Amino acid sequence: MFQPLISLGDNLIRGFEALLRWDSPERGPVSPADFIPVAEETGLIVPIGEWVLREACRTAAGWPHPISVAVNLSAAQFTDRSLVDEVLGAARAAGLPADRLEIEITESLLLRDSATTLSMLHRLRDTGVRISMDDFGTGYSSLSYLRSFPFDKIKIDRSFIAEAPNNADSLAIVKAVTGLARSLGMRTTAEGVETEEQLAASRECGCSEAQGYLFSPPLPAPAVGELLARLQPVPSGNARLRRA
Ligand code: C2E
Ligand code: CA
Ligand code: CA
Repeated sequence: MFQPLISLGDNLIRGFEALLRWDSPERGPVSPADFIPVAEETGLIVPIGEWVLREACRTAAGWPHPISVAVNLSAAQFTDRSLVDEVLGAARAAGLPADRLEIEITESLLLRDSATTLSMLHRLRDTGVRISMDDFGTGYSSLSYLRSFPFDKIKIDRSFIAEAPNNADSLAIVKAVTGLARSLGMRTTAEGVETEEQLAASRECGCSEAQGYLFSPPLPAPAVGELLARLQPVPSGNARLRRA
């Protein structure tokens, strides 16, 4: 499934995050929160992750320029030395320019602070792939990770956005993170925006973009195609979002 990321400066869709779904014949729909950890433990995340990358790139290649796709990568995928080649190979095979591919990683990847992981991230970034820090604020020492790698974007965890309208402390934290990101040259995404109040707070805090049920739930690929086709093209070739 693909969920839109909306730029708060101009209300345009900048891209979509690919979110995996498993519709099990025996169990019905299983949440990724349940099956991704098992896939990570068993190592199955490597072939699953390769499939996600190929499918996401293939789907995004059919979207108008410059709409991008963001793919989540687990720390376990970085133990596979061929990961960088897999990522670049998936984009190349689909005909998707590398600068329309984003990779989302979490702090757990940098916990190990291995030189190999960082060099893999640098290799990806050097080819134009953008790297985002996901779920920011939920880890142990978030700030130190911002020093270790020049992320393109920080995704501020849903828990801060949920409380921002009614909790001065959360609001202050979101403001501080966007200010910090700006001085580091990074963009910010408000995750899990569900209400107009949360959207207003995200704007007030200076978030660059937002994602959440207020705009759209994750959509199947054909619905994304229809959404993009319905939206008015603007001179930049981007698509304008009209909320139904
Ligand atoms: P995530 O990367 O933080 O993705 C955002 C999650 O928030 C998604 O849950 C999305 O459906 C949900 N969400 C979006 N907007 C809202 C909102 O307004 N309110 C609320 N309450 N939730 C919202 P989902 O799809 O269940 O995925 C859960 C997690 O599973 C993801 O969290 C990510 O960590 C992992 N995941 C999903 N797909 C993949 C994948 O292809 N590979 C890997 N490695 N992990 C994945
Ligand atoms: Ca994510
Ligand atoms: Ca997230």
